[in-house]
Amino acid sequence: MPIEVCSMCGQRFKVSTKDWKLTHHSSDKVDTLYCVKLWIEKRRSLYDPMELGATRIATTTSNHPIKTAGDFRSNLEFNFSLWLEQNGFDYLYENWVFPVHNGWYIPDFYILEHGCFIETKGLWAAGSKKKLTNIYSRYPSMSLLLLPWTLGKKL
Ligand SMILES: [Zn+2]
Repeated sequence: MPIEVCSMCGQRFKVSTKDWKLTHHSSDKVDTLYCVKLWIEKRRSLYDPMELGATRIATTTSNHPIKTAGDFRSNLEFNFSLWLEQNGFDYLYENWVFPVHNGWYIPDFYILEHGCFIETKGLWAAGSKKKLTNIYSRYPSMSLLLLPWTLGKKL
């Protein structure tokens, strides 16, 4: 069973081989939702995503302040949005578009004030892991955390 080290607390933790396949080697690793919170809080908005070459687009979610599951692509995303609200983080959903060599990448959540992105992938669609690899190498100064599937289940 693969062993990872939490980027925030330094704790070693086991990841099942099945779950390990859903991680990405370039993302920071976090072992608890508490450490996700610490990870976000430690990010500082040192740049505007526009400086990285991203384009801001209108949110795909409704402008209504009360969001429902229908505003998101999955329950995982909806539950994560609730978690962000509960923890006092303001966010934009699918608001920044990053060019990659063969198309576009739109991170799920942009956390305002901390200038970081969270991707909440439940599984890898064809080509999406490779796309993330391209993103990490093309935008090295972008703070992007892949939320582990195992933590998504705990939301
Ligand atoms: Zn940790």
